[in-house]
Amino acid sequence: MNQTEYGRVDHLYFGTNQIGVPYVESSGTWFRKDLYTSNANGEQTVERRFAANRDDLSPVFYGKYDSSCPACFLNHSHTKAYHDKELHNARRRERDQVMRDMGLKKVRGNLGGTYWE
Ligand SMILES: [Zn+2]
Repeated sequence: MNQTEYGRVDHLYFGTNQIGVPYVESSGTWFRKDLYTSNANGEQTVERRFAANRDDLSPVFYGKYDSSCPACFLNHSHTKAYHDKELHNARRRERDQVMRDMGLKKVRGNLGGTYWE
């Protein structure tokens, strides 16, 4: 999918953000453009956020900073699903590095899946 046009998902809100339809940029990175409405003055702005994938309609991430998440590190707005995915991947990379440090190799099994030997 090479979607450059994006709307909002009907009737789907998180707080005062109307959730945007996820789209992928030429870099291969998924984003969402949510429509944010200020409680203070009703002003509307489009907020571009990192998204996990084409199905990412998860809430905006307002949780604790974690430097394993690139978007947290860059102080760029992102979704909860994106944050969770990046932390999951970071933990997997760390585990894989420990296995490699122990001299093991990751192997793809005949029946799918991977194991270390
Ligand atoms: Zn994050």
